[in-house]
Amino acid sequence: MLRPLTFIVAVILFAVSSQAREFVSGELIVKLKANSSESQSYKFLGKAQLQKNMKLKRSWKRMKMYHFNIRKGQSVDEAIADLQNDPDVAYAEPNFILSKSASEVQNTLSADVVQSMAAAGGLYSTGADIGIDQVIPNLTPSGNKPIVAIIDTGVDITHSVFTQSNSIWVNAGEVPGNGIDDDGNGYIDDVNGWNFINNSGVMLDDDDHGTHVAGTVLSVGLDIFQGTVSESSVKIMPLKFLDSNGLGTTADAIAAIHYAVDNGASVLNNSWGGDSYSLALHEAVTYTYTKGAVFVAAAGNLAGNNDYAPIYPASYDVPNIIAVAATTDSDNLASFSNFGYNTVSVGSPGTVILSTIPGGNFLRMSGTSMASPIVSGIAGIIKAQSPTMLGYQIKTIVEDSSEPVIPLQGKVSSESRVNAFSALTMSGAVTVSSYQPTYSLGGRSLASEEGAAGCGVVSKFVGDKLGGSGGNGSSGGLGFQLLTLLILIGPLVYITYMRTQNSTEQRRKHERFSVESDVKIKIGNKELVGSVSSISLGGVQINTDALLENGGIVKMSISTPDGKEQIQVAGKVVWSQEKESYGLQFSEPNSKALNKISNWVSGLKKSAAQT
Ligand code: CA
Repeated sequence: MLRPLTFIVAVILFAVSSQAREFVSGELIVKLKANSSESQSYKFLGKAQLQKNMKLKRSWKRMKMYHFNIRKGQSVDEAIADLQNDPDVAYAEPNFILSKSASEVQNTLSADVVQSMAAAGGLYSTGADIGIDQVIPNLTPSGNKPIVAIIDTGVDITHSVFTQSNSIWVNAGEVPGNGIDDDGNGYIDDVNGWNFINNSGVMLDDDDHGTHVAGTVLSVGLDIFQGTVSESSVKIMPLKFLDSNGLGTTADAIAAIHYAVDNGASVLNNSWGGDSYSLALHEAVTYTYTKGAVFVAAAGNLAGNNDYAPIYPASYDVPNIIAVAATTDSDNLASFSNFGYNTVSVGSPGTVILSTIPGGNFLRMSGTSMASPIVSGIAGIIKAQSPTMLGYQIKTIVEDSSEPVIPLQGKVSSESRVNAFSALTMSGAVTVSSYQPTYSLGGRSLASEEGAAGCGVVSKFVGDKLGGSGGNGSSGGLGFQLLTLLILIGPLVYITYMRTQNSTEQRRKHERFSVESDVKIKIGNKELVGSVSSISLGGVQINTDALLENGGIVKMSISTPDGKEQIQVAGKVVWSQEKESYGLQFSEPNSKALNKISNWVSGLKKSAAQT
């Protein structure tokens, strides 16, 4: 490990809930307001360093985003609270820890063994038939190869698979070893990529993960197991931001993502993630969308439902993200794989995948980390065939060309497992489109609005019943993955409640008021009817056919009985009865929302109902 990262685990206690976060001690990411001028930015930097004793580590000026060390002795939360009050600051957030999407490791195989296995018969990275045997003879490498960025633990670029296939990206504008940033991109001697851990042009893989991922990307369009590997159709750009433990930071991930698209990558493979929502990372992914790239992300290995417990970056709703679940050789969902009907796009083989590791060897690994690069490989060969195709269309083709498989029904939006040959065939048959849906972060409830800690959770709240029955599986675009729960209390609502004689100081914190109301639960473009039966300043009880998972965080927009006001508040599912009655505890409550609730119930009659 080249640069020891100092990690701390902090448990932040919110008023009504707690949430564990992992971030780098003593560091922050700060974003200035969009309308701040260049001189204001400089003024802020001066203030941050002189008055606040912060130390600038890195800046993304175009984004008005900065990475700081904070003052010694000050906690990250204190620093964030201070910056949130600064008129120049749009938001500040911790530098969260991210990790590789862990994999099971089998025995290492030498090149000799692998080559003799290949000579004995067709040897592919995966045992599932995804059309690789049909793709390979149909690909002719051209001079203009699309670049696939491997944002990972590094790549052993000396492995014979990469050298023989001439697949490692070369920065033509950089003169090796002269200590000069020849192409002026901000990185000195970045001849083949960049190592964001030790800030050098050597992307040594001290873990195996990144080299394995890179080999898998190539294996979709190339027989990487032969004694002599032919020319690849895509280039590999190694970007190391995960250390020898497979851990990295949001700030380095953002830097790597920017490096990738700014230096020509059109496919970004991201076999890593974390469960803390980062607006800064969300913005970086959005940037790749505006540049027409495709962003492939592992869904995660917790066997969980990302609709309820999001994993980032896979769960951002940016339209160029292909979130990938792992399937087995027999097209079952892998036991470890995360899924999500509304948040995961496709299944792809991700068990005992055979690929390259450092030292010229091969290894079988399992994980959504392994499923993701197969999809990146498919995106790469599509891009090789259709060089001007945008990420959004590539994603659509990957989804539409996938094969429906029963075990993925209700599990991923396409309910299908990818097929490389079908994808290549479909991409060759369609008209290349310049269309990408407009996407803006502005329409969302963002972390910066959800508390000073900036650790707001983007809500994921979906009923399985809804997911299983509604809509078409390949609904792309802005609505896709944008999971916001709207609880609209209709005009028939009336609320009665018991109010304390004297206001706030005597008001019991979580006094509950009975409610009888019609409720519409809206998820994407689907709608269910339910009812709210009680409300308090601490939470709400709702009755609905939608299946909600305990612990899931939901976003609610509750309208007042007269329908004139909407109250935006997040809630966590804390209990359920018979899967139709649910208690939701308001999480990350803001005083504005609570005041509104307090105000509109205070005008109504008392009720005897209490719990
Ligand atoms: Ca350079």
